[in-house]
Formats: sequence, structure tokens, C-alpha cells
Amino acid sequence: MIIIKRPSDLRSFIRSEKSKGQVIGFAPTMGALHEGHVQLIKTAVERATVTICSIFVNPTQFNDPEDFKKYPQHPEKDIYLLDKASADVLFIPSVNDIYPSGTEKLERFELGYLDSILEARFRPGHFQGVCQVMSRLLRLVNPDLLFMGSKDYQQCMVIKKLIAEIGLSTELVACPTVREPDGLAMSSRNLRLSPEERKIAPEIYKTLQHVREEIRPGSLGALALKAKQRLEQKGFRVDYIAFADRDNLQLAEEWDGRQPLVVLVAAFLNKVRLIDNLTIDE
Ligand code: AMP
Repeated sequence: MIIIKRPSDLRSFIRSEKSKGQVIGFAPTMGALHEGHVQLIKTAVERATVTICSIFVNPTQFNDPEDFKKYPQHPEKDIYLLDKASADVLFIPSVNDIYPSGTEKLERFELGYLDSILEARFRPGHFQGVCQVMSRLLRLVNPDLLFMGSKDYQQCMVIKKLIAEIGLSTELVACPTVREPDGLAMSSRNLRLSPEERKIAPEIYKTLQHVREEIRPGSLGALALKAKQRLEQKGFRVDYIAFADRDNLQLAEEWDGRQPLVVLVAAFLNKVRLIDNLTIDE
């Protein structure tokens, strides 16, 4: 695996690979890699002919400065995992490489209602920050295939919109959520859970599964409230648990028994914020 630090070097590398007709696959990350990231890379290796992974902890997407400061980093383990997963390139830019004019005056992206619901409502500015870094990375790499995790369901939708907005022909491949054996969705933030919190954390997935079993056509409000209370009883502070259309993320209060839905949750265990989601079939 080649490690590239400078955007100009990455640009030349990609130009040369594209001229050979290679299919460029790209998986952007913030490092502290786990099996969820590794699966993205493995899928990329299967589907593309050149796989590029980036590690960049993006300062503009953290609405909580503490969260940014405490974001876990273990670069040596990351390199080992990427190499083992057969990534071809690791791109590690600096903040200055990504934001050469600083992070004060930034472009605004038109994301419509995706920028006001769920994650956007509870993390103001988060998706604008994600689009800052992703627009820069996408313009630089211009991948044929972009690999992202369905764990960040709303983020996948935002990035699809961004790709269209900036006029690229990149195809987004949304990969399934990789879980711990007890159901907890893998996340770099899980490293910040205390042993006690770690024991409680899988309750998020159990609650989503319970919702999927209990859902019936009709009003969804009571079921969402019951799920919220169940999590609160276990010690979570719930930002939201909500149903939405799987294809466009319009929030759903009612269900006709046929509409493809996804149930999404965000909740804190003390200081650690966890998110997860589950699709609901007919
Ligand atoms: P992050 O490093 O948290 O920004 O995540 C980088 C990419 O990995 C994003 O596309 C995430 O959705 C994806 N990802 C993170 N956790 C998981 C997981 N448990 N399963 C699948 N993909 C994941």
C-alpha cells in the first residue's frame, strides 16, 4: 500500500491510473478503523481495480469541540488494517491541505430538508461540515465508486445529493452496517464507552429489532414513544427515534404496511453519542 500525503501527489497518481482505464474506488474515513471500515475496503477491493482510503478527522463537522478533541486516533493500527485488507492507497492530508484558505469562510451546500431533520436537527452544521470535506475529497479523487456505510444512513443520502450537486458521475455504494456479536453497531466512538456503558450499548440494536417486530400499519407515534422510554429506562438520553421513508427519508407518522421504512435512532450514554438504524420490510 502506498501512503500519500499531498493532494498534488494523489492527483498525479489518479491521473495516471485513470489513463490506464482503472476503476477508482474510494472509502473516506476519520481513522480509528474497525471491522466496519475494513468491510468497506474489502467491498471496494472487489468492485474497483484501485482502492483508495482516506483518513482525515474533519474539524468542520464536529458541532461539539470536545468530541473533536477526544476523537480516537491510532494511525499504526489503521495502516496495518488497510494493508491487510489490500487497499492500494492511503491518503492522509493535513487540515491545511483540505482547507488551504482556513475554515472560517466556507461554501454553503443546498441540502434541502435533509439538512433540517434527525441528525441535522440535533447536530446543527454537521452535514455542512461533512459536505465541506467530501466535496473537496470527491473533486480531488473523482472516484468511479464511493463506498460508505449504511450505519450513517442520512449521511449516505446527503452525499448522494452532494454528488449530483457538484456534477460528478460517482456511484455511491452503501454497505451494510457491521456489528459486534452482541448487535452493537461498530463505531470508532465505542472506544470511549466505559465497561459499564459498553454492556448497556447493545440495547440500541435490541430496541430497533423490537420495533421491527412490533410495527403494525397505522399510527407510529406510540411505538416510537415506547421505544424511547425503553432506552431511557436503560440509561440513554435519546435525541430521536423516528421512522422515515427508506428511499427519501421523509419522516413517517403513519404506515400503510407497504411503504419501505427505516427506523433511525440517536442516543447518548453519558457523554458518548451513538447512532443506528434498521430497515423495515413489508
Ligand atoms: P467514520 O470514520 O466514522 O467517518 O466512517 C467512515 C465510513 O465508515 C463511513 O462511510 C461510515 O458510514 C462507515 N462505517 C462506520 N461504521 C460502520 C459500520 N459499523 N459498518 C459499516 N460501515 C461503517
